[in-house]
Amino acid sequence: MDIIDKQWLADAGEYHPLEDYQGRTPRWCVGCGDHTILTALLRLCRDEQLPPEKTVFVSGIGCSSRFPHYLKTYGFHGLHGRALPVAEGVKMRRPDLHVFVSTGDGDCCSIGAGHWIHALRYNMNMTVLMHDNCVYGLTKMQASPTSPQGLKSNTSPRGAVLAPLNPLITALSVTNASFVAQAPDWIPDVLYHIVSQGFHHKGLSFIRVLQRCPNFLPDLFDPLLHDPEKTLVLTHPKGIQLDPSLARVYRNQLDHDPSDMNRARELASNPDLIPVGILYRNEQVPCYEDLRKREQSFTPAMIGEVLNEEFDKFTVQPRSNGNGAAAPDCSEREAGCSRGSNGQRGARFRDS
Ligand code: SF4
Ligand code: MG
Repeated sequence: MDIIDKQWLADAGEYHPLEDYQGRTPRWCVGCGDHTILTALLRLCRDEQLPPEKTVFVSGIGCSSRFPHYLKTYGFHGLHGRALPVAEGVKMRRPDLHVFVSTGDGDCCSIGAGHWIHALRYNMNMTVLMHDNCVYGLTKMQASPTSPQGLKSNTSPRGAVLAPLNPLITALSVTNASFVAQAPDWIPDVLYHIVSQGFHHKGLSFIRVLQRCPNFLPDLFDPLLHDPEKTLVLTHPKGIQLDPSLARVYRNQLDHDPSDMNRARELASNPDLIPVGILYRNEQVPCYEDLRKREQSFTPAMIGEVLNEEFDKFTVQPRSNGNGAAAPDCSEREAGCSRGSNGQRGARFRDS
């Protein structure tokens, strides 16, 4: 769309510039990777011209979960670990909405882990971004499930004992997982294209974003930032392509077919070469909301019939008036109620 078209549409009130999606001023720390993630999402909303009134951002609790406040769309800042069930409820009731979820590593992989597993299995059509800074940031630095072994934190002053959970391997192991990707916040172009691919995927797209937290773990991603050879960029016609200027910096590239699950698992398990791009994608996995829609072919008349059957169980039938005829109903029967001659009521459902 060229600039003249945009101007014309803006004048006609039909084009949404970036400002239409911008909410409050973000309060994240300077240099926090969440800023880049927000910029990618704002750009996506603008480029796809998503109607703000048909777009919903859902989050749990944590630094990343402040996301809904910074977008001028619908939003739900929920409870710790509960972003996914809320988003699933929204999608189930309103499949026409564009649903995005922002969740952190603690939010998703710890308290919300059960919801995460089942959200992947339900494969509802939404874009899920896991902002992984490998620490609980909002509560001032506690070890999370993805914290590196040995990390000294408020909850592990002598160093985290356990090896970190690998969210990519976990996601790739769940039945019905249909889109698993990894993106770094410090390559905005790659981040944007992965998010865009996730948005266009029909099903749940799980994107782990490697997110910098300069406040608590300023050096965590230094090996990747200082040595581009440690990053393996996965390119493919069904995945992402690198811009020529980036391809000169990130020379470690691999043509990876995202339909190859076994290869995706191998790539995700390599601790020395961090994959960036779309690891796995399968458009054939059905979405839960579509499966349920087929089942739910109830017409209002059918619903009315079932409800009336239930209501009738509580209706007191009119008594005989003595000569065998039933006592006349009161006028309220016409207004949607039945009242027996003893004055008790039974509601009736009407499909209006
Ligand atoms: Fe970002 Fe870390 Fe600051 Fe939270 S504490 S806003 S994650 S830099
Ligand atoms: Mg975190």
